[in-house]
Amino acid sequence: MFAQRLKNLKPYKPGEQPKDREYIKLNANENPYLPSPKIKDALKDIELQKLALYPDPDSHELKKAIAKSLNKTGGVLVPAADQKPLGFEITEDMIFCGNGSDEVLSFVFYAFFDSDKPLVSPEFSYSFYPVYAGYYGINLLKVPLNADFTLDTKAMLTIDSTGMIFANPNAPTGMALSVDEIEAMLKAYPKDKVFVVDEAYTDFSGYTVLPLLKKYENLLVIRTFSKSMSFAGMRLGFAVGAPALIQALTTTKNSFNHFPTDAFCQASAIAACSDIEWYSENCRKIIKTRDAFSKALVDSGWNVLPSKTNFVLVSKDGMPGKAVYEAIKAKGILVRYFDIDVIRDFVRITIGTDEQMEKLLEIIRTI
Ligand SMILES: *Cc1c(COP(=O)(O)O)cnc(C)c1O
Repeated sequence: MFAQRLKNLKPYKPGEQPKDREYIKLNANENPYLPSPKIKDALKDIELQKLALYPDPDSHELKKAIAKSLNKTGGVLVPAADQKPLGFEITEDMIFCGNGSDEVLSFVFYAFFDSDKPLVSPEFSYSFYPVYAGYYGINLLKVPLNADFTLDTKAMLTIDSTGMIFANPNAPTGMALSVDEIEAMLKAYPKDKVFVVDEAYTDFSGYTVLPLLKKYENLLVIRTFSKSMSFAGMRLGFAVGAPALIQALTTTKNSFNHFPTDAFCQASAIAACSDIEWYSENCRKIIKTRDAFSKALVDSGWNVLPSKTNFVLVSKDGMPGKAVYEAIKAKGILVRYFDIDVIRDFVRITIGTDEQMEKLLEIIRTI
């Protein structure tokens, strides 16, 4: 009854959503702020007829709207003073849209990575990468992090690989390589292999590698609307890269599902892109809350990795992550712990509103 390949699947486990009581959810890196009110207007005006017809399979208007907003901001919602300008115009043919960046990533694994050589990734990065590698029979080689949780870029570059993938800023550490460090990697990396940087959290970091696309045609940048754009429930992710790479993703998509972004998604995301200031403001608030929360934790004697994201990875000496998680959960707040060596002592806490973080701090001070 079941195919052989089913036995080998090791599915991804998302953050829990228990229903036994009302929890404050700080366990899935969701955005605590509402999406732009302009979306409500856009959806109010959507004609029912639109739902009876197939959507635009290639999301043309949406891709134009995304390109326009990236060109407007320079590629990051709250740019740091020394983030370099794009230096070129991002055009529609450089963008691919999918049903969440998880789906975009699955097409990336399918389109660019072979099984004859390893795909290189850091030991700790987005935990969906090993899942897709297993799904497609790709040999994922995880390179251990340095002792300070930074990526061992030297070791990653010495491997003869079919491709490279990591999140920057990385998850679950929250730490980031600089744009210059990534450019140094690209310089040393073969030009005929795809180099993927997953920028799911980049809007909280001030920096993006998008300006490097001008020089490196093997660079592919993955983005999501789920985090900085308060859109996790709608499912929209995209890739930015050279038109040849985008074309390969489109071929893959059209061999699997023509219509990954539905009519609601396209209409509401176009509206979102017309109100970028709304999201920049929310992003600024989250960054401010994160830095204040991190400082308060450090002042209370906790260890906090320096985060460039909307979450922090933290630990308390002598207490395993699971125990911290349970103590916090008993008081009505969900965070995430990891049943993996090296980060077993940590919990990952999503940055919510100031009020939510105040409540959490009160709980944490009693632990
Ligand atoms: C959340 C996340 C994603 C997935 O985003 P979706 O668009 O919601 O599928 C991808 N990569 C990283 C590193 C993430 O943290």
